[in-house]
Amino acid sequence: MREVWKSFDGLTVLKGIDLDIPPSQKIALIGPSGSGKSTILRILMTLEGIDSGRVEIDGESIWTMQRDSREVPADRHHIRKIRGKVGMVFQHFNLFPHMSVLRNVTEAMVHVLHLPQEEAEKGAVDLLKLVGLEDKIENYPAQLSGGQKQRVAIARALALRPQIMLFDEVTSALDPELVGEVLSVLRQIAIESEMTMLIVTHEMSFAQEIADRVIFMAEGKIIEDNTPEIIFSRPTQKRTQEFLRTIL
Ligand code: ATP
Ligand code: MG
Repeated sequence: MREVWKSFDGLTVLKGIDLDIPPSQKIALIGPSGSGKSTILRILMTLEGIDSGRVEIDGESIWTMQRDSREVPADRHHIRKIRGKVGMVFQHFNLFPHMSVLRNVTEAMVHVLHLPQEEAEKGAVDLLKLVGLEDKIENYPAQLSGGQKQRVAIARALALRPQIMLFDEVTSALDPELVGEVLSVLRQIAIESEMTMLIVTHEMSFAQEIADRVIFMAEGKIIEDNTPEIIFSRPTQKRTQEFLRTIL
């Protein structure tokens, strides 16, 4: 992202964001409510446009400038190709309620990746094993706990084989006793996979443990971009210190 500006109804929520993320890096994005974290993820997922600046994924621009100088998405075919490289998991899991756990995961494998049903099911079972849900494949979302639903949502996002995964506060809607099981799945993915991961989280000890790099945002700007060691033990910016003092 280069000099990215974004506003909603006159409220400027991103103020010149510059961000480079190398492949495979695991980044924790932290900051107060309303600072623009989800907006960054939604732009990378091409769910949201920008007012000015540039956003590239894997060397390809996802927004191109038009004559009226508003940024518009590149053509649909191009967007679809880029979107295929990026997966996202949200705070609220949005599983398909009328489909079994297995089908929630295979659906996009069949319709987006065009895998044969049998191959999709084999892949989905492997992913459901990875998230510890192999015994729930025939169940429906309403029969699962919040933590289990969120793990299905993670498996479903992984099923599309993204190079980049975006996680937006995936544990903050969960009861406290269910947070751990979801974080341990994320921890395992972070350790084992080559995927680039951008994780918005309020779980600071988790961020410290798994992130290669921590980015602290406030009021639409990146205030500090540093190693977890520095951010959590001796942050260089006063604003970071204040934020961590209020939440730790
Ligand atoms: P939180 O930690 O609460 O999730 P956040 O850092 O993810 O906060 P964003 O969701 O990116 O914050 O929102 C940044 C600002 O943009 C907020 O003031 C929010 O109200 C505003 N905003 C986000 N999306 C929209 C929208 N679609 N329409 C209008 N305003 C929006
Ligand atoms: Mg948010």
